[in-house]
Amino acid sequence: GTAAQGPRLRRALEGIPTYKPGRPASGADGAPAYKLSSNENPYDPLPGVLEAVVETAGRFNRYPDMACSGLTAELAERFGVPPEHIATGTGSVGVAQQLIQSTAGPGDEVVYAWRSFEAYPIITRISGATAVQVPLTPGEVHDLDAMADAITERTRLVFVCNPNNPTGTVVRRAELERFLDRVPGDVLVVLDEAYREFIRDAEVPDGVDLYRDRPNVCVLRTFSKAYGLAGLRVGFAIAHEPVAAALRKTAVPFGVSQLAQDAAVASLRAEEALLVRVDALVQERARVAEALAGQGWTVPESQANFVWLRLGERTLDFAAACEAAGVVVRPFAGEGVRVTIGETEANDIFLRTAEAFR
Ligand code: PMP
Repeated sequence: GTAAQGPRLRRALEGIPTYKPGRPASGADGAPAYKLSSNENPYDPLPGVLEAVVETAGRFNRYPDMACSGLTAELAERFGVPPEHIATGTGSVGVAQQLIQSTAGPGDEVVYAWRSFEAYPIITRISGATAVQVPLTPGEVHDLDAMADAITERTRLVFVCNPNNPTGTVVRRAELERFLDRVPGDVLVVLDEAYREFIRDAEVPDGVDLYRDRPNVCVLRTFSKAYGLAGLRVGFAIAHEPVAAALRKTAVPFGVSQLAQDAAVASLRAEEALLVRVDALVQERARVAEALAGQGWTVPESQANFVWLRLGERTLDFAAACEAAGVVVRPFAGEGVRVTIGETEANDIFLRTAEAFR
């Protein structure tokens, strides 16, 4: 009988791909090992940020502030938006999952570019909605015209990942505004700006400017990348009241720890020092891109903290060669390799491997 078979899970959950975290670097036998597989910030936490967390750690017998009120107030001030327009969550991927669960279900469609952030297909499947993947252009950029064409009466949500993970490419103001003008007002457009702080192209709009007079635009940001808090899991959305309120409703209770909240507030206050580090990473990105071009690689221009090498069938071999040399990168089998801009020495090891592979 059914009792012997155990609980009945939703059929829709069968075959959902598993989210694969970046492989850790092991560094056995004293060999250098650098992790360039998860787009993390290579810098150790700032002493001031660490202190804020150490203080809080002594109180982890208590639940955190469920409303994240201190962090929310700080973000509202920082972005010049009402606190009611902010919703925090367990990493921006947690917020993205809440967004889909709040807007889409079986029979509905979610449109996003492909290849893009690997969580989109997973969280779409979890919701029961149907994924509509729109291929990137040959230049590895979002094809916003094709994405607008892909919107149907069933579409509830569209992701625009800007810059795109894993290609690092961006969409610029004119084309993004033209796209937003074509999207029906009852379709939610999520501008995933996880790598926003690494953008140096002045033509790329700030999603926070775009959301202000567009009730169907939601901006996703994270403390995991430029702010270096990946291990603490805190991200947030900026959107008009109904969307932000839905996110607050669907949040896992106490999903953002007090450590994460206090570290995020301390990071906002230490923003100047953190952005100096981001500048250094952006300079490293330019150095890596130039070196790769000099070696004869064609690499899409990245505005994020990683670069994308399209390697096709050689992808796994390249990743293995990097690992043997002491850096762990992120292969997407049959497609290419995404390499985080990390410590100078790590970037150099990657560049030497790329040169030898050419
Ligand atoms: N969006 C994009 C485009 C990402 O690349 C990532 C991290 N890989 C995230 C969201 C999620 O980051 P987090 O959950 O750490 O905020």
